[in-house]
Amino acid sequence: MRIKRYSEKIVELPIYLDHHATTPCDPRVVEAMLPFFTEQFGNPASLTHEHGRRAANAVEDARIAVARFFKVQPNEIVFTAGATESNNIALHLVKEGDHVVTSPIEHSSIDRPAQKLDATFVRVDGEGRVDPDDVRNALRPNTRLVSIEAANGEIGTLQRIDAIGAICRERGVLFHSDVTQAAGKVPLDLTHVDLASFSGHKLYGPKGIGGLFVRRGVRIDPLIVGGGQERGVRSGTVNVPGAVGLAAAFKLRASEMDDEAPRLAGLRDDLRARIEAEIDGASVNGPRALRLPGNLNVSFERVEADSLMIAMRRFSLSSGSACASGERTPSRVLAAIGVAEGLAMGSVRIGLGKSNTAEQLLMFVDDLKRAIRKLREISAA
Ligand code: PMP
Repeated sequence: MRIKRYSEKIVELPIYLDHHATTPCDPRVVEAMLPFFTEQFGNPASLTHEHGRRAANAVEDARIAVARFFKVQPNEIVFTAGATESNNIALHLVKEGDHVVTSPIEHSSIDRPAQKLDATFVRVDGEGRVDPDDVRNALRPNTRLVSIEAANGEIGTLQRIDAIGAICRERGVLFHSDVTQAAGKVPLDLTHVDLASFSGHKLYGPKGIGGLFVRRGVRIDPLIVGGGQERGVRSGTVNVPGAVGLAAAFKLRASEMDDEAPRLAGLRDDLRARIEAEIDGASVNGPRALRLPGNLNVSFERVEADSLMIAMRRFSLSSGSACASGERTPSRVLAAIGVAEGLAMGSVRIGLGKSNTAEQLLMFVDDLKRAIRKLREISAA
């Protein structure tokens, strides 16, 4: 009952347009998880009894389902607490004396550890795309890892991870891809990927669970040590309800994403066309094509995104700035694609998802036009 009330609430005001930050957990996912909080509460490492064995079976079934989604082997999937942890584990492969190649628009859980390493940040073009040849040219004899995300969570750019991975394979360098924003939204091919990070809460699954695909033969140096769970890659009692929920979310995505992607891309394209036609001084950031279906990122001249979001309180949105030590700074991603600082501070990210409709977006554009007119009047006064 409570869960039903929760799922009804997401269609009420405010309207959620921030599906890159997180997504609501699908009620079918919650239902699959529930028994594992109560009657099936065993520790999957307690193989001496039935309670433990049942939990272990649930975790192994979940591993099989996740592996099937990615078309990899179950023993190549490690459950973690989310993509931040998976990304940190991947970068931990890079040791003193090693070199790593990455891009300037990766998630902070790649960017921050990379800043402490001997790293080359290959350039991205005005749409945020990495040129695979730039990756090739950045490789050195001591390059241990290349890490390039599959999709960017701010501007939606899809990277050519297959081409980048093929170069790495040819040169004998490990290729990690953060597929957190792409998994369950666009088709993914991990043929040339050695490690991949993903997270439950970006695909209508639970928070606090994610995983790392580790291709057979790749030796991980664990970040978290202890009881040796997850083949020693990630010690700690596995989050059983989380793993079950993650698997349920992937199964649903496998059957639903092919229909949802064109619907969201259609809504997004209509929204972009209306914004461009009806609002002066609006410019779209990121690619026209090869972009996450539900993603739009727009800068508005002479508008502060923070004020705009206050004025747009009927909608949950994200801005193109980040809060670092209490100060607003323009997004690193927008800076990397050449958006001027002033414009970046007037940028918003719209992340469409399952619950969004054309009617909601009509209302959104009306509110947006009104809010921008008002804010520009105030700043001109
Ligand atoms: N990578 C990307 C591309 C993301 O968008 C996010 C979440 N914003 C993460 C990693 C971190 O995921 P988690 O919340 O599971 O730690």
